[in-house]
Amino acid sequence: MSDRADRLAESVAGRALDSLLVTSLVNVEYLTGFNGSNGACLVGPDSRTFLTDFRYAERASQLEGWEVEVVSGEWLAGLAGQLFGRVGIEDDKVTVRTARKLEEATAGRCELIDAGGLVEALRRVKGEAEVAAIAAAAELTDEIYAETFERGLTGRTEAEVAAYAVARMREQGAEPSFAPIVAAGPNGALPHAVPGPREIVRGELVVIDMGSRLDGYCSDCTRTVATGDLSDEAAEIYAVTLEANQLALAEVAAGRSASEIDEVARGVIKEAGYGEFFGHGLGHGVGMEVHEAPRLGPRSDDVLLAGDVVTVEPGIYLPGRCGVRIEDLVVVGEAAVERNLSAHPKALIHAD
Ligand code: ZN
Ligand code: ZN
Repeated sequence: MSDRADRLAESVAGRALDSLLVTSLVNVEYLTGFNGSNGACLVGPDSRTFLTDFRYAERASQLEGWEVEVVSGEWLAGLAGQLFGRVGIEDDKVTVRTARKLEEATAGRCELIDAGGLVEALRRVKGEAEVAAIAAAAELTDEIYAETFERGLTGRTEAEVAAYAVARMREQGAEPSFAPIVAAGPNGALPHAVPGPREIVRGELVVIDMGSRLDGYCSDCTRTVATGDLSDEAAEIYAVTLEANQLALAEVAAGRSASEIDEVARGVIKEAGYGEFFGHGLGHGVGMEVHEAPRLGPRSDDVLLAGDVVTVEPGIYLPGRCGVRIEDLVVVGEAAVERNLSAHPKALIHAD
């Protein structure tokens, strides 16, 4: 982990900053391994300071490579004296209140510079252990998909299916990485539907989007299944979405622009006449957070890097009728997808 702080120190220097104040707890955990509820880091060329309060003093003393300062109450108090020159803050994470307090506490002795995203940029490319953790979370999710479909959907409510999946995750030591989406029939047309009391009936599409968080890393996967024979329209949007998913996956490689890959999927959906019914981006990075860099979408400036772990999740949503989304989680390789972590089958399956 100390090399993470070293790499951060390089980007801090690259931005002509004297130090970066890291206050996002996810970023603090990434850098130090500390996962308590109160901690901050100050990272500069020669400084690796970790601040926390009394409750975590014991745990903090185990952090290797960090000078630990236990501050009473307000961590700002412990910091103010150490800040000088150009100090980067995570402007995309810091609250307005904290920013104001920082300005007050340092009162012109240093310049606070907006420098959000530096740790996130490091977090983007995953190391071997990180990929292994994400893969384990994805595998668990795949198992729960299999169990959920075997158990059957027809006659159960969306909420019941979602609760079952969450319970299975917890039984195996995981947490849901986000509240699962189970959206049947017309509810499937709402990309972020909340599972409700609607009973799943025969002959409809059911969109299930879920992921686990295991050992600090998330997974994310969507499968859409049929509960018996479908209308021609439902079958068609499934086939089109699957083609969009597969053709986009075939384009994933280091050096490819995220917007180009989005356009491949979007092109398939547009050509089939459903362009206006795919209203979200194609995908996103997944790691310690379920949504992180890079973004795959029409307006993304990101270029894929080997070691990115991203989703590819085209969808078609026909208001009042039905919806489909098919989402895979993949590791980006130099020339192609290095590994698809979502192993559950994608051919339209019937899960009565
Ligand atoms: Zn998802
Ligand atoms: Zn997703």
